[in-house]
Amino acid sequence: MRHACSDERAKAPQLRGWCPGALRPMVSGDGLVVRVRPRLGRIAGGQLIAVASAAQRFGDGEVQLTNRANLQIRGVAAADHPALLAELDRHGLVDPDESAERRRNVIVTPFPDEAGETARIAAALTAALADLPTLPAKFGFAVDTGRVRLLAETPADIRIERAADGGIILRADGAGTGRPVRADAAAGAAVDLARWFLSAGGVRAGRGRMAALVRRRRPPVGPEQAEPAPSAAAPTPGPIPGGHLVGFPFGAAPAAALLALGRLGDVRVTPWRMLAVETSLAPPPLDGVLLAADPLTQVSACSGAPFCPQAAGSTRDLARALAPAVPAGSHLHVAGCPKGCAHAAPADLTIVATPRGYDLVARGAAADAPRVRDLRPADLADGALFREALA
Ligand code: SF4
Repeated sequence: MRHACSDERAKAPQLRGWCPGALRPMVSGDGLVVRVRPRLGRIAGGQLIAVASAAQRFGDGEVQLTNRANLQIRGVAAADHPALLAELDRHGLVDPDESAERRRNVIVTPFPDEAGETARIAAALTAALADLPTLPAKFGFAVDTGRVRLLAETPADIRIERAADGGIILRADGAGTGRPVRADAAAGAAVDLARWFLSAGGVRAGRGRMAALVRRRRPPVGPEQAEPAPSAAAPTPGPIPGGHLVGFPFGAAPAAALLALGRLGDVRVTPWRMLAVETSLAPPPLDGVLLAADPLTQVSACSGAPFCPQAAGSTRDLARALAPAVPAGSHLHVAGCPKGCAHAAPADLTIVATPRGYDLVARGAAADAPRVRDLRPADLADGALFREALA
């Protein structure tokens, strides 16, 4: 191993600048990746069953839960894509066209307020997106207006969220405060902020994120500004009001488990790679489901090699092996390359595969400067380097 002294990396990841959809799948090492974006953060039990059946028939038998609260089928042969699309369309899971699919990049808190305000804001925002000019493909919105704010770590460019004083604010990602808005005006104000992003030069060569623009330009502010509510920690698997939160290691849900969950009730998707099943019944014991006490709840990892062509090494086997060594209360992210798809936000510990081994980043993201370079899995096994990095 060698300790890092600069931020050089042997192999820079290829930035694609877009996420797959159902109509526009992405080619990966094991076939097409087809992503389903549930509307308003919810999917009916019957739709979940349809996605799981499609994963068994056309994919690799698993459904990936993504950190943008979407469902993804991998390993689809190009020749099967039209039949898979037809199947998803039959269940109302496909947008009318690629442009509509691309725009519908809205993450909704899975723990909405009881008064239905969140659902109304999300519906109004989704409808208003049709009026927007083209935004960068990864540009997205978060509706985080439940009783507590939960999506602070979830990627989004424009946030409608619960304020510290209990009201609602509209906040540009990267800004410390937001503008108070009425619930019935929040969607329109979000669209106005997206127009400002475009007119203020937020897009360069077809790409751009709000936080990067906010570092260069102050977003338009009204006469008042308010702080967002404190951010709550992501919940763990188990009972929740009105249902059950069900997680899967690395968000890889066996289709058979989803078939069983879909029979229990409708489901809210979450950005924590778990599903909130609306049921009064406890889910039956299911293969591949994560228990709250499992060390894998502290770990995230992308598909890595050989599944992603950009990966410099395998990820999930290493993450599984290292999970018991992760200090309590910390999170380990294992990435196949510096792009860090599985955990966009900084993590306590991040391991990044490189052509020479694995680098370790402390309290940072996969693209940040590593603390130690060129590690072998055996160097990490006893957890000593983790404890040292967090000391
Ligand atoms: S982080 Fe993982 S999934 Fe993302 S591009 Fe790199 S290797 Fe592929």
